[in-house]
Amino acid sequence: MITVIIIAGRDVMRYSRQREALHNLLCSTKTHPDAEWLYLNLKKSLPNLSLGTVYRNLKQMAENGEILEISCKNSTHYDGDISRHYHIFCENCGKILDLPREYISVSVEKNNIADITGYDVLFQGICFDCKK
Ligand SMILES: [Zn+2]
Ligand SMILES: [Zn+2]
Repeated sequence: MITVIIIAGRDVMRYSRQREALHNLLCSTKTHPDAEWLYLNLKKSLPNLSLGTVYRNLKQMAENGEILEISCKNSTHYDGDISRHYHIFCENCGKILDLPREYISVSVEKNNIADITGYDVLFQGICFDCKK
C-alpha cells in the first residue's frame, strides 16, 4: 500500500513537471507550435518524455483553458497566450501569426440571439515574409 502511494506520488510529480515544462515552452514562443515541435524541443531536457504524454497534456491544458488550441487544415497548433486574439494562417509557409483583437471590430459579441462564451476564428492569407 505504501509502495503504491510513493509510486503514485512520484508519477504525479514527474507528470506535473513535464506539464509545467510544456506550458513554459509554449508561453516562451510566438510561433504557435504543434505537438511534434514541442516534443522535440522538450526531449532534450526531459529524455523520458513521450509524444503521447505531450498530446495528453496539451489536450488537458486546452480543456482547462490554460492554452489555446488552433485547428488548421491538416494540423493542430497551440498557443500559450490565452488573451483574446485571432490567428492568421499563411497559406504559403504554414506559419501562424497573431492578429490583435483590436484590429478587427466584432459586432457579433453584442447580439440578441445568444450569449457568446467563446469563438474560434482562423484567417487565411499570405504572410509578409512570403510576399517579399
Ligand atoms: Zn508565409
Ligand atoms: Zn496566438
